[in-house]
Amino acid sequence: MDTLDCVVIGAGVVGLAIARQLAMAGREVMICEAEAQIGQHSSSRNSEVIHAGLYYPPASRKAQLCVQGRDLLYRYCAERHIPHQRIGKLLVANTAADLPRLHAIAQRTTQNGVHDLQWLDAAGIRALEPALHAHAALLSPSTGIINSHALLQALLADAEAHGAQLACHSPVSGGRITPQGLALDIAGMPIPARLVINAAGLWAPSVAASITGVPRETIPAAHYARGVYFSLSGRSPFSRLIYPLPEAGGLGCHLTLDLAGQARFGPDVEWIDGVDYRLDPARAVAFYHSIRRWWPQLPDGALQPAYAGVRPKLAGPGEPDADFVIQGPAQHGVAGLINLYGIESPGLTSCLALAEAVSTMVNQRR
Ligand SMILES: Cc1cc2nc3c(=O)[nH]c(=O)nc-3n(C[C@H](O)[C@H](O)[C@H](O)COP(=O)(O)OP(=O)(O)OC[C@H]3O[C@@H](n4cnc5c(N)ncnc54)[C@H](O)[C@@H]3O)c2cc1C
Repeated sequence: MDTLDCVVIGAGVVGLAIARQLAMAGREVMICEAEAQIGQHSSSRNSEVIHAGLYYPPASRKAQLCVQGRDLLYRYCAERHIPHQRIGKLLVANTAADLPRLHAIAQRTTQNGVHDLQWLDAAGIRALEPALHAHAALLSPSTGIINSHALLQALLADAEAHGAQLACHSPVSGGRITPQGLALDIAGMPIPARLVINAAGLWAPSVAASITGVPRETIPAAHYARGVYFSLSGRSPFSRLIYPLPEAGGLGCHLTLDLAGQARFGPDVEWIDGVDYRLDPARAVAFYHSIRRWWPQLPDGALQPAYAGVRPKLAGPGEPDADFVIQGPAQHGVAGLINLYGIESPGLTSCLALAEAVSTMVNQRR
């Protein structure tokens, strides 16, 4: 078989954004997706929030790529008519005791180049969101929501319009290094490729480990943190996203709205051993407790089980949060291979910026 120019493993938002970027730059791209359709994992099991860049350590990849990606994504949504809304978000301090943490986030946000936050006191909060009980809040006007399915479709359409080909039912099960690049085992067939981008999300570490010759010490251990969502039956009394302060492993069980105004709450954090999207309805008990801290009127019986997602974590329970990892030949020594690890939130927001970062890495090695 002829050597392929470029194989992107994984058709989530990140793999598709990279495939689009490379195809638009004139590369011949094949996208290998294990599932029957695009976007069956993290890219369709998330909060669909366009993050403004509030939380991440300054100078981290998450901070840089979130802010850059947010701007690229809003522009892309406008150009491609992808349903989205710059709806705004309130990050709340329930009591005066929470204020130091809210101040620390505000300071970090400024260091990340986000300068549009507004402080609200209890009266200011009531004026915007009468049902919300909180001591103080930060209003982030540049936080938004997006239809992630429409985004996936637009990225794929752009990639295909520039010659990329999508192969579903095509799991990469292994590979080896060759003089021309790599030979991948795709759906049982050996396929040679000059450039391979591993954007397999939750499975990126195991895909890298299946390629003989990739140094094991460069492949991070995978950890999984499930987050479940409950939808609100009935109308939402809120017109903006409401976030409590972040918790270990996640951003805190928040309220998001979809583009039809339907509210859902989540995701919580539960460390699990592998990818498992089961949702235990009993987790609602903790949701009622946590939501009623800022919305005491949440009616009994209003929460309905919705769906679950799993975060591809590089840090385990009790460890400090890890950054996005993008590894090229300079890091692992294998020519023609780029691995993306730990692309958890804000990966949806950052997908176009991640694609630019990968494209820059590809061009550096040419
Ligand atoms: C609960 C939750 C909430 C989140 N909320 C937000 C949010 O509000 N805003 C935000 O910006 N980000 C959010 N994120 C993060 C965001 O969803 C992810 O960062 C993003 O979707 C990652 O995209 P991806 O393409 O890397 O991974 P995925 O979407 O998981 O795609 C990886 C693809 O690789 C395929 N694959 C795996 N193994 C193989 C193989 N061997 N061969 C071929 N294909 C393979 C999979 O089938 C899959 O389609 C959230 C994530 C979670 C889990």
